[in-house]
Amino acid sequence: MTYDAIIIGSGFGGAFAADHLVNAGMRVALVERGPWRDTAPVRAAGITQRSPLPHGVHALTHLVRRITSPLLPAGGLSPHAHGLFDLHLEGDMSVVASSGVGGGSHVYSAMNTRPAAEHYWDQRADGISDKTMAPYYGQALARMGARAPRHGEGIPNFTGDRFSGHALLHADKTLQQPEMGFRFERGAFRSNSYFGSADGSKVTLDELLVAPAMSKGLDVLDLHEAVDIGRSARGWRVTLRHQGTGGYRHLDAPRLLLAAGTLNTMRLLFAARARGNLAALPALGLGFSGNGDMLGYWACNDDGADYSLGTPCHGRFALRADGETPYLTSFGMNGIDDLPLPKILRARLRRDLILVAMGADEANGVARWRSGRLSLHYNRDANPVLARISATFRQIAQASGKPVRSLRRYPVTVHPLGGARVADDPALGVVNASGAVHGHPGLYIADASALPGAPGSPPSMSIAAWSLHVAHGITANT
Ligand SMILES: Cc1cc2nc3c(=O)[nH]c(=O)nc-3n(C[C@H](O)[C@H](O)[C@H](O)COP(=O)(O)OP(=O)(O)OC[C@H]3O[C@@H](n4cnc5c(N)ncnc54)[C@H](O)[C@@H]3O)c2cc1C
Repeated sequence: MTYDAIIIGSGFGGAFAADHLVNAGMRVALVERGPWRDTAPVRAAGITQRSPLPHGVHALTHLVRRITSPLLPAGGLSPHAHGLFDLHLEGDMSVVASSGVGGGSHVYSAMNTRPAAEHYWDQRADGISDKTMAPYYGQALARMGARAPRHGEGIPNFTGDRFSGHALLHADKTLQQPEMGFRFERGAFRSNSYFGSADGSKVTLDELLVAPAMSKGLDVLDLHEAVDIGRSARGWRVTLRHQGTGGYRHLDAPRLLLAAGTLNTMRLLFAARARGNLAALPALGLGFSGNGDMLGYWACNDDGADYSLGTPCHGRFALRADGETPYLTSFGMNGIDDLPLPKILRARLRRDLILVAMGADEANGVARWRSGRLSLHYNRDANPVLARISATFRQIAQASGKPVRSLRRYPVTVHPLGGARVADDPALGVVNASGAVHGHPGLYIADASALPGAPGSPPSMSIAAWSLHVAHGITANT
């Protein structure tokens, strides 16, 4: 089979680009190292080879795919090839990502937002701006069917209702709630978040974009990991390793789109450069950001509460007194019924909450490649937003009279981005305004690694908008 384009990775970057290129008539191979997940919509789409989400008896076996760290051997630890989560553990910044057809949409919390940072796309590179990107945000949000939860519609634990009348915290109508890619109309408010949504209440990209594109000719190579990229007579060659058999094969095409997620796209680029397959790329690794993420454990222990119910994220809230609250969201232990935990622990966890706060950090982290391993360098003191969020967590603890515990000294992000960012100058960025890698015609980056900075809000729609922008540029020039 000859392809017009190969895409590596099927998350927000890969799936949106695949959908556009296939609909424009291109022959596309979509390479994904993880499996199809066994969910109701994927079954209904007729996909026969599926792997369970980490629910019930699969909770431990299918939870983690790979753990990497500069302290571990180069390949890291690989508990299970079909595991859902991918963890990178490092002192400066640890990263949680995922694996499977649909990428991060299985574990994400369904918040579909535009950037909180003003003028996010302006003055980044010639040819992109907030204005040129706006239609792609519109398209992405419409495809996700995203809408914000409404006050008084009876959604369990929705912050908009829960904090109504609270003296110090609020989520009233002045605070814009995130739109959510969630099928509210089903009224299924259980087990639909970080551990996947087996009944399809949460909209995931495998069923929304990838499976429908197969009926228009998209070839999906699931359980195939791209282990090397380089030039070939046809343009670009990808070496793939099958996750089951261990066998290798090659694919060639004039265009190659990298969408393996921030850390993995950087790994592919660094490794190819180290092997001499790619030249220079002086800016590779610059501009890494954790989107100002800070996670907190809010030990509420509220009598009679069952915070495990609700939408994947309960919504935003803020401190009444704080004009500049970070983007602050609250979550329950959604999916806890699927985990094999002692009853007493499960009962307690239902009564506690998780806080996820984010804000536009300075995107001044640096990723480096040493002895076949990625290492992340991120100075939390050089990112004042983290201190602001810590102060907010302390105020929430005060306002509620319940402790908020966070690992301030060990930042963790679920929103890694940058490292192969867009900029006109190859000394500052890896890709140009079209998403093409400087000096490497036919090679594009369509995922979060190309983002120019921290949006300060959940980034999936910025990634989808960028991916659509890159894909439209490709079809416009074909
Ligand atoms: C717990 C959690 C909650 C989140 N909640 C939200 C939220 O509510 N809203 C929001 O906007 N964002 C959220 N995010 C972040 C969001 O999921 C990511 O920003 C987004 O998925 C990144 O998109 P991507 O296309 O860059 O990469 P991904 O979605 O990670 O997709 C990359 C894909 O590439 C595959 N891959 C990697 N390497 C290879 C390789 N070598 N060969 C083949 N395939 C490969 C991976 O298996 C993966 O499927 C959350 C993340 C987590 C972990």
